[in-house]
Amino acid sequence: MKERLMKFGPDFKIRRNVLLNPGPATTTDSVKMAQVVPDICPREKEFGDVMQFIVDELTELVANREEYTTVLFGGSGTAGVEAVLSSILTGKKLFVLNNGAYSERMCKILRTYQADFIEWKSDFITAVDYDALRQELSRHPDVDYLCMVHHETGTGLLNDLSEIGKICKEHAVELVVDAMSSFAAIPIDMPAMNIAFLIASSNKNLQGMAGVAFVIAHRQALEKLKEIPARSFYLDLYAQHTYFEKTRQTRFTPPVQTLYALKQAILETKEETLPIRYQRYTQSWETLTTGLRRLGFRFLLRDSDQSKLITAIFEPDTKNYHFDTMHDFLYQHGFTIYPGKVSSYDTFRVANIGAIDRTDITEFLNVLQEYLEGMTRGENS
Ligand SMILES: *Cc1c(COP(=O)(O)O)cnc(C)c1O
Repeated sequence: MKERLMKFGPDFKIRRNVLLNPGPATTTDSVKMAQVVPDICPREKEFGDVMQFIVDELTELVANREEYTTVLFGGSGTAGVEAVLSSILTGKKLFVLNNGAYSERMCKILRTYQADFIEWKSDFITAVDYDALRQELSRHPDVDYLCMVHHETGTGLLNDLSEIGKICKEHAVELVVDAMSSFAAIPIDMPAMNIAFLIASSNKNLQGMAGVAFVIAHRQALEKLKEIPARSFYLDLYAQHTYFEKTRQTRFTPPVQTLYALKQAILETKEETLPIRYQRYTQSWETLTTGLRRLGFRFLLRDSDQSKLITAIFEPDTKNYHFDTMHDFLYQHGFTIYPGKVSSYDTFRVANIGAIDRTDITEFLNVLQEYLEGMTRGENS
């Protein structure tokens, strides 16, 4: 037994890594430590209270609790997307606005279920032509749901939810939004934006641990699913919702410790407030892009189409450059960057979300400059 005993004394320290990948993001020590709790059976009322708190607070971040609720799933963010898509598709016509890697993923999920859907492609690196979208929807009066991604994490492209919500209202179409990488940073107002289902996860701007996907749903949109047979057993959105409402338990074992961390992350989000969080992220982004420009980098997107949460950066066009050696050099210094995700352009990505601020970004830029100087001297190749 002896070697199992761990001591968390006052000098217990966890090394701090600055994650500049687009989630999981850097977390605070208090969120990390919130996972260390007495063992508990998740069917106990005490744990039901923790989940109810999470459900209520997540709902209130973007909507109101009278008309909306949140459905939790154990799983990564994609589990939440698949839960919604597989739960709404039977007998319904879906329309996917595809302008990035994650809306492309929605199409892949729908193909897996052999669903009948319309894929409308829009350029991956420039803003949607909203009038063209209007016209396209007018050509398809049978569409029931429009599915899209708020913030395309592969590029940093931000779609205009207010505009698309308006278009959906004009066409009496329900709006389904993957807001994985915008939720808890960029303001979202589900009632005003006319959103029926919004999907996000615990480990991006919420600054929690990976392992919880959630769907914030308009209760009426959720109720309509009663008539629609779900195509997945585990990811059945309506069953998960009704079971929780009845029992305050999840149908299957939830990620218990991750949910404790999520509760703490929500408390810290509320303490900071969303406007201040987005301001902190935006300041980091400004520091980042100013510094990168100074180092000679160019960006995939125009600033005006940018979320200011992630930046796709063209790779240096020199023979000594290799993404992996740059990544490894930065990693050794405590910074994690991410490869690009648009196959037709050579980019890498730097996100500026999580429990970090512009002083971390300044340090990152110093280490990057050190790497680039070494590269120019031919040291790192
Ligand atoms: C992160 C992310 C997802 C989910 O990815 P997982 O690896 O399943 O967590 C989905 N959509 C978007 C836009 C994302 O940024």
